[in-house]
This record gives sequence, structure tokens and C-alpha cells, in this order.
Amino acid sequence: MTQTLEQLQQQLRSLRLSESAQYLPELVQQAESEDWTYRTFLHRLASYEQKRRDEKQVEKRLKWAAFPFYKTLDAFDLDEQQSLSKKQLNQLQEFTWLDQLYNLILLGPPGVGKTFLATGLGIEAIHQGYKVSFISMGDLIHTLKTEEFTRKSQIRMKRIKDSHLVIIDDLMYMAMDNREANLFFHLINDLYDKASVILTSNKGPSEWGELLGDPGVATAILDRVLHRAEIIHFREDESYRMKHRSSIFEEKSVHN
Ligand code: ADP
Ligand code: MG
Repeated sequence: MTQTLEQLQQQLRSLRLSESAQYLPELVQQAESEDWTYRTFLHRLASYEQKRRDEKQVEKRLKWAAFPFYKTLDAFDLDEQQSLSKKQLNQLQEFTWLDQLYNLILLGPPGVGKTFLATGLGIEAIHQGYKVSFISMGDLIHTLKTEEFTRKSQIRMKRIKDSHLVIIDDLMYMAMDNREANLFFHLINDLYDKASVILTSNKGPSEWGELLGDPGVATAILDRVLHRAEIIHFREDESYRMKHRSSIFEEKSVHN
């Protein structure tokens, strides 16, 4: 019985090999014109399906991660600051620290590239097969507080808890009340043995205590976050935004 190409495509689709189904006519044509062996043909078909699945997986994970922008670390300019060497950046991109459940704390004033570095590492981690979530501290508190009532928050929290890497951006830009600090503690506790966390903040850990309300809860959070952690401290004078800002007075020196 000879199958038509359409029938074969239908069969592949019902086996959930839809990418292969689409690619089949082109592949068959190439195989015939180049006299492929059966083995080569099957290998090409399987490789194509695998490659497309991996690509789709990356696309899906990038969407779920909810990054504020898509900017890769190739554009991260290391000459601008002394807080991180090329070697260290390369090491971070190898993600051994992620496998070892290390946390990364990025500290420094606004504009030094904390969000950029965190996002760039998150994007690279997804390309290397990890699941990542990005959330600002403000959104995180809101999501934790509404988890019981809204489906949207439930889904978001489920994805966060299912991630290998959770990026929490702008920790402590606001003081938390007791309930918020407690919800945050429970999340940190849940993630402690399962995931790495990148925290960015313009305040150092010594100042986190007072913003976390309850000193007991603050200590418990700090213990877990800092137990296995690397801290990168960007300095004030390294603000990329300040150095590269455009000025309305540019090139027009005003002399009286
Ligand atoms: P932060 O989160 O520390 O406030 P951002 O990551 O938002 O800083 O960076 C501020 C701006 O400066 C962004 O537009 C970012 O792309 C740019 N920037 C910061 N650091 C660098 C860097 N090392 N190389 C290239 N651009 C940078
Ligand atoms: Mg930021």
C-alpha cells in the first residue's frame, strides 16, 4: 500500500509530530534528489523535529519568564565598571552556581545595570535549558497577596515555584508590613532547596532588616538568602545611565 504524502503528514500530526509533518514534502524531495539512505532520511527527520521542539520550548519559556525587555549579555559593556570582570561574567554564564543553588545579590544605586545583568543572565539560562521567572518586588508582593483569589496570580506563582532561577528585581524599594514580610518569607523558604534567586537592590542586606518589618522574619529571610550567595556590588560612580545620559545643554557651553 502506497501512502500519499498527505496521508503521511496526517499520520505524523496524529502522532504529535506536527513540525515533521510540515517539513516532510521538502525532506522527501531532497532525499530523492540526493539519494539518501533510509537511515540518513530518518536521522534528518528526527533531528528537525527535535530542533523545532527545542526552539519552541525556548520561546515558551522566554514568554513565561516575563522579562522587562529582551537584551542579551553581548551588549553588556564591561569597560564601564570595575565590579565585574570578563572572567566573572563568563563564569556566571556557565551556571554552575545555578546547579549548586547559589543566589546572586546585585547591589548598587539606580542605573548601574543591575536589572540588565539579571535579565541577561535569565535569558542565557533559558537558552541553556533552565526555567526562569522575572518579577519586580512590587509585583511579587501583589501576586502573593492575591494568590488565593485570582487565577492569574495562581498561575504566576506556580511558574515562579517551578523555576530553576527566580529573579526578584528592586527588593526593598518599599517597606513591608508584617503580613507581606511573612508571605515573602514563605516563598524564600519554598525556593531555598529548589531554586536560585537573583535579588537586585539599592540597599545592602544590613538595611533590609528594618524594611522587612518583623526582625525575626527579617533574620530568617536573610539566613536563607545569604547562606549560599555571591554578592556583586556596583559602585555609585559606575552609573551607566548617568554617564550616557543626553543633556539638553550638550555641547553648548554656557559662559557668562
Ligand atoms: P539598574 O537596574 O541598576 O537601575 P539598569 O539595568 O536598568 O540599571 O540600567 C540602566 C540603563 O543603562 C539601561 O538602559 C541599561 O541597558 C544601561 N546599562 C547599564 N549598565 C550597562 C552596561 N554595563 N552595558 C550596557 N548598558 C548598560
Ligand atoms: Mg533596575
